[in-house]
Amino acid sequence: MTKKQAIQNLDEIITKVEGARLYVSAHHIVHIIAISKYSKAIDISTLYTAGQRAFGENKIQDLKLKNEKLEDLPLQWHFVGRLQSNKINNLIDLNPSLMHSLDSFNLAIQLNKKLSAKNKTMKCLLQINSANEQSKTGVSSSEAISVYEQISTKCPNIQLLGVMSIGANTNDKKLVKESFKITKKIFDKLKDKGAIYCSMGMSSDFELAIKCGSNMIRVGSSLFKN
Ligand SMILES: *Cc1c(COP(=O)(O)O)cnc(C)c1O
Repeated sequence: MTKKQAIQNLDEIITKVEGARLYVSAHHIVHIIAISKYSKAIDISTLYTAGQRAFGENKIQDLKLKNEKLEDLPLQWHFVGRLQSNKINNLIDLNPSLMHSLDSFNLAIQLNKKLSAKNKTMKCLLQINSANEQSKTGVSSSEAISVYEQISTKCPNIQLLGVMSIGANTNDKKLVKESFKITKKIFDKLKDKGAIYCSMGMSSDFELAIKCGSNMIRVGSSLFKN
């Protein structure tokens, strides 16, 4: 990816984000996380020179490698993938800015225990499976509030800052919108419990997600396209 292309990709996304966020309100700020899982370190650094600072990966090994290769750049790293128990310590050692995919109370307990042993904390989002899909992890929308409260009280080393969800996996925009609305409703109920981020929206659906109230989008393919 050339720098010119990176700037063009970023401009396109920002223009679309701008339109969608103003539909909500002039005060609605949206964070853009560049998901670099299909991209090489060189393309991440190109996007950095175009102005992007926050990047995300879905595999611990990739996060570690790219983090090391780009350690001289002041990047913010997010983790958005499924976290296996045997990789918890690796993630902790990478000091991510935000972990989006805390997907069960059981994982929270394990993560908290290992954080506590290292005397560290981690900022996390609770992943909600709002479309109730078999293929996805995450807590169900009916359990989300109570699991969030349980983690908040029982896991002092986890700093819960909101929710994350992946839109329904369908071309039917109505169903995707429905899943975003469910997540947003849960997010609103958690605001007085410290929730500040509602992470939803990817390349195919981020404008819709923002219009439904998302304030953090995770875009990969549309930012790194050639
Ligand atoms: C890959 C991925 C994204 C980005 O997907 P694109 O469609 O490439 O924008 C966002 N969130 C998660 C959890 C992902 O795994």
